[in-house]
Amino acid sequence: MSKMLAQRTLKSLTKAVGVGLHSGQRVELTLRPAAPDTGIVFRRVDLPQPVDIAISAQSVTDTRLASTISSGSAKVHTVEHLMSACAGLGIDNLYVDITAEEVPILDGSASSFVFLLQSAGIELQAAPKRFIRVIKPVEVREGEGASTKWARLSPYEGYKLSFEIDFDHPAVDSTGQRVEFDMGSGAYSRDIARARTFGFTKDVEMMRANGLALGGGLDNAIVMDDYKVLNSDGLRYNDEFVKHKILDAMGDLYLLGKPLLAAYSAFRSGHAMNNKLLRELLAHKDAYEVVTFEDEKKAPRGFATLARAW
Ligand SMILES: [Zn+2]
Repeated sequence: MSKMLAQRTLKSLTKAVGVGLHSGQRVELTLRPAAPDTGIVFRRVDLPQPVDIAISAQSVTDTRLASTISSGSAKVHTVEHLMSACAGLGIDNLYVDITAEEVPILDGSASSFVFLLQSAGIELQAAPKRFIRVIKPVEVREGEGASTKWARLSPYEGYKLSFEIDFDHPAVDSTGQRVEFDMGSGAYSRDIARARTFGFTKDVEMMRANGLALGGGLDNAIVMDDYKVLNSDGLRYNDEFVKHKILDAMGDLYLLGKPLLAAYSAFRSGHAMNNKLLRELLAHKDAYEVVTFEDEKKAPRGFATLARAW
């Protein structure tokens, strides 16, 4: 008898405490198991009446600096690194209880979230995992010439992402500006999750003056001046910058609410354009279909086996 490809949640709950990158505010996060077909639901437990914010392409209401989801006036900022870890480990159903308006930045990558989720243990559930399979290409594009940027989803029997950045900075020029990652490698935790967010000292000063990046520093970001990386330990990957863009894209795209079967490619995209791409896909009902796998052996590589720890 064949075994279906099942939805996943956590075996037990797990907690983390940290600070928000922009707010600098202390925040507690509790990740809890959820029933099949719940999806991923953030719950603001600090409000007088707790408010649930279920992820969806439409739940994203602000994409400046980070991806923010909201329901009414309740918001959660900077969800993309946690969402990336959920995408990488194939978590379908999860409650995320949070005590402030921003997900903790932890080490600036997704690896702390991967560690938390792995430590809680991953449970297979009695319901088929539902994918959104792209059957016709969709694309969003902005700007002309030197300021052009675009993002695209194309049919692909699996999930792969390729990203190109175009930063004119000595510390970035010397590293890879383009990277491709395929979920079929099974190596998300090792190859993508550890890539940290990055910023420039001059931007950080400006953001701080505007009450942003208050929790940011050398222990949760790659920080560069006009010439070099200032972190004493250097980079975790020699192409860490563009790998972080893949990490962010995986998180932004997972806000769709179901894993994609598609090839994503992008040039200088970011949170705003990634969300626009999801809305473009949903606006074209003939461009996708929802599929399940009755026999997990027929599923694309990288989805049936539980992800390796590291
Ligand atoms: Zn990021």
